[in-house]
Amino acid sequence: MLDNISLCYNRGVKAFDDIFSYLPLDIRESLDALFSRYRFTESQRLEIVKDEADLRQWRERSFTKLADYEAIDARKDGRKGEAYIAAMREYMRRLRSSETDYSSFDPASHPRIKHGIHDIDKPIILGRCPCPVDGEKTRCCNLRTMDPIEQCAFSCAYCSVQAFYSEGEIHTISRLKEKLLAMDVDPSVWHIGTGQASDSLLLGNDKGTLSALTAFAEAHPNVIIELKSKSGRDVFQHGYPRNIFFSWSLNAPTIIEKEEHLTASLEERLTDAERARDKGSLVGFHIHPMVFFKGWEEEYPKIAEEIERRFSADDIYAISIGTLTFTKAVLKKLRQRGAESRVLEMELVEAAGKFSYPLETKRLMFRTVYDSFSPLFHDDVFFYLCMEDPSLWPDVLGREYPCDKAFEEDMKRSYMAKMRKR
Ligand code: SF4
Repeated sequence: MLDNISLCYNRGVKAFDDIFSYLPLDIRESLDALFSRYRFTESQRLEIVKDEADLRQWRERSFTKLADYEAIDARKDGRKGEAYIAAMREYMRRLRSSETDYSSFDPASHPRIKHGIHDIDKPIILGRCPCPVDGEKTRCCNLRTMDPIEQCAFSCAYCSVQAFYSEGEIHTISRLKEKLLAMDVDPSVWHIGTGQASDSLLLGNDKGTLSALTAFAEAHPNVIIELKSKSGRDVFQHGYPRNIFFSWSLNAPTIIEKEEHLTASLEERLTDAERARDKGSLVGFHIHPMVFFKGWEEEYPKIAEEIERRFSADDIYAISIGTLTFTKAVLKKLRQRGAESRVLEMELVEAAGKFSYPLETKRLMFRTVYDSFSPLFHDDVFFYLCMEDPSLWPDVLGREYPCDKAFEEDMKRSYMAKMRKR
């Protein structure tokens, strides 16, 4: 029993140090002064340090500079630490629960890092989407994943790719085409996504990635390869096999400008999608991650309008809708990185082991964007919610599936039907 208590205590101390040691000196000094002024439990200290890391990212003042110390010190019951925590929670709750205000937020520019590109001799592994497997808590299409490129040269504030792969180095797989063509593909595999560890079009065909995937797609005409991008990189001087699907993540212009650093603008992404369509490829869009910010109700519906203005339902194999979701590990990395960003200025409600907006906020945002598409698009384009609570499906999309397998089968049927028409 004692060992368990000390284990928990040590974990708490480590979690605290993991964030505290990354804070700037002035905040660490203010926190040291606070911790000698009032008594806090380990978990309260951890909560304080996380909130301070968040305030720093949002470019808000430290709560140690805002607290009403006179009122706290006047308490007669001696529970001054608890009074501080209660005031801090109320302050943070107000910030987190309202729409994020970007009007006066100008984050420091993100320099374009000169990445070295290195071929690594490693095998190709087909992974699985990071959703909980066949969970009750999210509806997942069972996407298989492949990472021909690891690390990204873009700098989206909510992304953990930079933190999880070698810094300053982009890795590609050596002899990719040869390895892909030698791969034994299980007959159950029908849909592979390549945009998990980088942007699928980041390198264009500079390292032969697209040629290798083209050869693989030709060898497996019943396997759909989905390349997902936020770039405007024109790789469409020629066409691709019809089972290579190109998709773009789209976001509100405010979020692209303030949080998706170094990526292409909304206009550039849509123009690139038009080029792909004009060369005969099916295209898809991921309106993801939606952010609850002041102006979301105007900017997200305009994306729907723009898609319908430029594309017909026959051009599009799918439109997904999703939002910010973080694992504990990613939250820690973002707080350690400390880059100026307001993506964590949100209620972090736990769901399926991850943290995201409350369901009511998601329901409101997702419905607004879905309802902005016409009935024709609703009928002829496969809409889905990415990694979301199944309870949102009927309210947002007017349909639901009893299990992941049923979702996967319906997606497959719809994708294959669109592909056959090409
Ligand atoms: S483009 Fe994709 S992989 Fe690159 S930083 Fe943005 S979210 Fe991450």
